[in-house]
Amino acid sequence: MSKDEMPMRYRCPNCEHVYDEAQGEPHDGFAAGTAWSLIPEDWSCPGCAVRDKVDFEALDD
Ligand SMILES: [Zn+2]
Repeated sequence: MSKDEMPMRYRCPNCEHVYDEAQGEPHDGFAAGTAWSLIPEDWSCPGCAVRDKVDFEALDD
């Protein structure tokens, strides 16, 4: 498996909620495995509802 195929994780800079592509966001209707690129631009952070998708920071393990 190449690095490009690894699930990415993105963190809210406000509340540190993490969106994990491997886990999705089932409560928001995004199944496990949903790529970050498929999340709508106007999606708000489910942790704090203050930040939007564009504010999230990619995590590099
Ligand atoms: Zn947040």
